[in-house]
Formats: sequence, C-alpha cells, structure tokens
Amino acid sequence: MSIYTGPVFEMARQQFQVIADHLEIPEDERDRILYPKRAIAVSCPIHRDDGRTVVYQGYRVQHHLTLGPTKGGTRFSPTLDIGEVAALAIWMSWKCALAGLPYGGAKGGVAVDPYAVSKRELEAVSRRYMQEMIPFVGPHIDVMAPDMGTNEQVMAWFMDTYSMYQGCTVTEIVTGKPVASGGTEGRREATGRGIAYLADRAMQRLGIAPGGATAVVQGFGNVGSVAAATLAERGLKILGVSDHTACYFDAAGLPVDALLAHVGKHGVLKGFSNQLAFDPAELLAQKCDVLVPAALERVIDARMAGRLQCRVLAEGANGPTTPEADEVLNQRRDEIFVIPDILCNAGGVVVSYFEWVQDLQQFFWTETEVTDKLYHVLDRAFGQVMTRAEKDKVPIRTAAMAIGVAKVRNAKNTRGLFP
Ligand code: NAD
Repeated sequence: MSIYTGPVFEMARQQFQVIADHLEIPEDERDRILYPKRAIAVSCPIHRDDGRTVVYQGYRVQHHLTLGPTKGGTRFSPTLDIGEVAALAIWMSWKCALAGLPYGGAKGGVAVDPYAVSKRELEAVSRRYMQEMIPFVGPHIDVMAPDMGTNEQVMAWFMDTYSMYQGCTVTEIVTGKPVASGGTEGRREATGRGIAYLADRAMQRLGIAPGGATAVVQGFGNVGSVAAATLAERGLKILGVSDHTACYFDAAGLPVDALLAHVGKHGVLKGFSNQLAFDPAELLAQKCDVLVPAALERVIDARMAGRLQCRVLAEGANGPTTPEADEVLNQRRDEIFVIPDILCNAGGVVVSYFEWVQDLQQFFWTETEVTDKLYHVLDRAFGQVMTRAEKDKVPIRTAAMAIGVAKVRNAKNTRGLFP
C-alpha cells in the first residue's frame, strides 16, 4: 500500500492503530478497515490567461463503500498529494459514522493554488477536474463538497459541468452549492455554527459562561470566519484571528463584523490594520477560553500542545493536532477539553447530507429547520462521545474515533467479505 505516504497519511494511520488497539481489532482485519477502496489520479490541463497550457494534478480517494455512497470535500492547494487526500477521506469515514450519516468517506482535490490563478482559470480547473471525475462519481456513488480553497461558486461549476454531460440538471451530485443552484439554506454557515455550538456545550460542562469568555481563531475562510462570528454572537470576545496573509490580536477584543466586511471585500485579512498585527507563530499559544484552529492540519505539535493556554480546543480544521501533541494533551486532560475534529467540524457534512436529501426529494427546508436538525445531530453525537469517554476512561478523541471506527467495522462484518 505504498502509494499512501507523507506525514498526514502517517498521522491518520497512527490514530487508527491507537483505536484498533483500544477496540482489540484483530491484526488481519485492520488493513481492510484502514486502506481506501479506490484512488483516482487525473491530469487537468487548462489554458492559462497568457495562452500557455498547464497541467494540474487532481485526485479523488473513496475510502469505503460499505454504508452508502462516499462523501467528502474537494481541496485546492498547491502542495496537495494523494497521502493527504487519503488521510482526509479516512477521517471523513469516521466522522460520517459518528454522526450517523449513510456515507463512506471521500476526499479529493487539485494541486493548484487558488489564490494564484484568475477567476477564469479557476473555473477552467474546476470544470476540467469534474469532467475527468465523471466516470467515478454520481449522486449514489460519490458526492463532492467544498473544502479548503474551494467554495460555493466552485460547487456550482462542478454541478453545471456534471449536468451538461448528463443532459439534465443533477443538483444532488455536489453539496455546498449556492442556494440559487439547488443548495440548502444554512450550509455555508454549518461548519462554523457547529463548532460554536459544541464549544458552548464544552463550556457548559466546564462552568464557563459565554458572556465574558474569550476565543482565538486561526484561519478566516469559510469555517474560521463563521466560527468567529457565531462565537461572537454567543457573547465571546474574539481576541485573535489569522489567515495566510495576516494575523491580528487585541486583548480588548477584535471588531468581528469589520473583519468580516474586510474579507468580504478583499478576500483576505491583509490590509485590515497595522496596529493590531501580531506574530502568527504565537497566536495559538495565547490565553483564551476557546481556541479554534480552522486552517491547516498538523499546526499543533507536541511543543505547541505544551504551550496552549486555552480551556477548550475546538478543532475546526481536519487533523490540526499531531499524535505526539495528543499524548501531551492527554496528560493535560484536566486543563484542556478537546473537541476532536471528527466531532467538532461535523456540522459541514451533516448539513451537506441535509442538502443531498433535499435535492433528491426536491423538497426544501427553512434555515431554522436545517439549523435545528443540525444541532440535534451534534447534540446526540456529543452525548454519545462523552458517555463513551467517561465509561471507557479514555480521551475524548479516542472515544469519538472508537464510535466511528466500530460502526464501519460492524457494517463490514455484517455484510461479509465478497465473494
Ligand atoms: P477556506 O479555504 O475557506 O479557508 C482556509 C483559511 O485558512 C483561509 O483563511 C486561509 O487564508 C487560512 N490559512 C491557510 N494557511 C494558513 C496559515 N498558514 N496560517 C493561518 N491561516 C491559514 O477553507 P475552509 O473550508 O474554511 O477549511 C478550513 C479547514 O476546515 C480545513 O482543514 C478543512 O478541511 C476543514 N473543514 C472544512 C469544512 C467546510 O465545510 N468547508 C468542513 C469540515 C472541515
């Protein structure tokens, strides 16, 4: 299984070994659960604006097909490789199983820097990627969604490209679309809202009142910006934010609405303020009640884990905490309440599931219905995870992953091994 390499895949593999040991899964059953069912690599040639032809590498990994279609985001990132995509697909599987969704995990993407191409070039890459993927995806086979570097517009291009080839509109081929193109109310906000909701649940358990509490958010894209806005709505003071262009901190609290307006206009945080500029390498280590890493994976290593001064670590990003950092956090269990990624950011795929269901039925819900149902699913998962952590006396991440992995394993075992 040597095509899956690199630090992110190694991290997913190590995490799985911990859970497999905890669940006492026999050695000869482990590879069947861990390794992806399918991996697709495609070349995406496009014309650049200057007339040159360039080829971008695209991937899609479908982890398991046991519970239904596969489901997962599409990442546009210059350093993307198949090991990273596979790790993200595997995490999607545990996440969907934990939330009780009828999906296996998938992930895909293109090794392109979305900030370094024009809008026309981005559309060309998006359409070409979807066109190359048509033989391998479908509303009952594999359903794409946004992830880092992609957004509602990219999903609309994906949906349009797929539909053109089918000869009819197939909204249910992707989720995270604009509402005007068959998307659901509340999808764009779902991941960030879910993070804020679960952070609130954690604060309740710790006896921290949201009014007067503080938060720091790394990453100010779809997930980070909505998490910051929703935490602020719930009464928290946002002390620090960052993206790949700038980092700001103010002990008195940042003006979140003004930051959102700036990013809405300029696309990035850069240029908002000189006075509030802060060292991005120090942001995660600032004292706060809720820390939300909502950008890249592996930003909290063992050293940073020892320096964290938050009460709640709400993992908005996928895989922000390395296994070595986890060991440190396990020792600091009484100080820091970890809401692990597969639970904390599950709001996105939960509402993606709602979007898919609505598209299949052509029957649409209000934003209140969507958000109420989202909180209901997250509440159930949070309760199950906390009960399991307390019963088995294990860290919260172990409990969350154990529930997800056990569901996939049970489904595989009851279906049996074909032929
Ligand atoms: P996005 O592209 O909308 O935003 C990413 C943000 O991270 C941007 O603000 C970017 O500037 C910032 N960033 C990049 N490099 C950075 C760095 N070195 N330091 C600080 N900030 C940096 O992506 P997104 O959809 O918000 O996804 C963010 C994370 O959340 C990813 O890990 C993704 O897998 C995860 N996630 C997303 C969703 C979703 O619904 N979009 C759902 C679940 C999990």
